[in-house]
Amino acid sequence: MTVSDLGEHALLGRLLARLPRPSAQVLVGPGDDAAVLAPVRNERLVVTTDAVVEGVHFSRAHFAPADIGHKALAVNLSDLAAMAATPQWALLSLVLPAGWPVSDVEELVDGLTTLAVRYGVSVVGGNITRTTGPLVVDVTVGGSVASRKWLTRSGAVAGDEIWISGTIGGARAGLEMLSDPGSRIPDPVCIAKQRTPEARVRLGVAMGRGRAARAAIDLSDGLADGIRQIGAASGCGARIDASALPTEPGAAAWWQARGVDPVMAAVTGGEDYELLFAVPKKGGRLRHVRRHVANPVMTRIGVWLKDPSELVVERDGRDEALPPGYEHFENRP
Ligand SMILES: [Mg+2]
Repeated sequence: MTVSDLGEHALLGRLLARLPRPSAQVLVGPGDDAAVLAPVRNERLVVTTDAVVEGVHFSRAHFAPADIGHKALAVNLSDLAAMAATPQWALLSLVLPAGWPVSDVEELVDGLTTLAVRYGVSVVGGNITRTTGPLVVDVTVGGSVASRKWLTRSGAVAGDEIWISGTIGGARAGLEMLSDPGSRIPDPVCIAKQRTPEARVRLGVAMGRGRAARAAIDLSDGLADGIRQIGAASGCGARIDASALPTEPGAAAWWQARGVDPVMAAVTGGEDYELLFAVPKKGGRLRHVRRHVANPVMTRIGVWLKDPSELVVERDGRDEALPPGYEHFENRP
């Protein structure tokens, strides 16, 4: 049965029945004209929105419906994590091709709600619309943060250290592996980073709460872009130590086998959804956060500089220009 066979009202009813019970914060939940939420006492509201579009952000050949739902929420949780906000609620707008199977829509919603439940996020409402174009999953999320404990892109100071969570390059290599029909057993870590990324929610919140960072951004558009964004907002340059970069091992192997420079591929590759921070040099608060957040792999990769025009990757004792970041309106290679 397809979306158009069932009709929008009946589909909405089926989807509402699948949503987990909302938290106590939700006074009027999904199914009414709008949701009513109780704000978290003494905290500030943090909101963001992001859409994933078939053919631009994913292809149905490589993504199961549950992966699409997972990723649509994860990319938003990552933006809240970069602000050090704890996620609380989500709005889901589904723009569905009329011929899409209802069971796929249900799986998509299940993929999203499985992730939502893990972070205590209530789906408080949304919308479904039919389209003659590609599938679009548009998600808005809200969360909260204690007063003045949020992180922005603009707080980095020259001399601060550059730290990143996790590994980089995996999601981009994962996309290449999925798109290359001739590839042998692809690396499961890279594939997972591309299809079902994990937002660094606990780490972002802990870094803000513990005042361990002065600035943060998530690496949705790659490390080079993240460095440039914080640099521009903070008025800093940056020096990256290529030998310190935590490139995902499967990605490095993939690029080496294809004669691609793994350093530059990892620096420019997007969608890793790791966090990038400016950390004051003494770093005592960072050590405290790392002790208290379970297993946050973090790596110091460089230093913020005084001159905003100095953006360099230091490699074998030589300076190379930091490549440009990923550009959304450019065609992908
Ligand atoms: Mg972001």
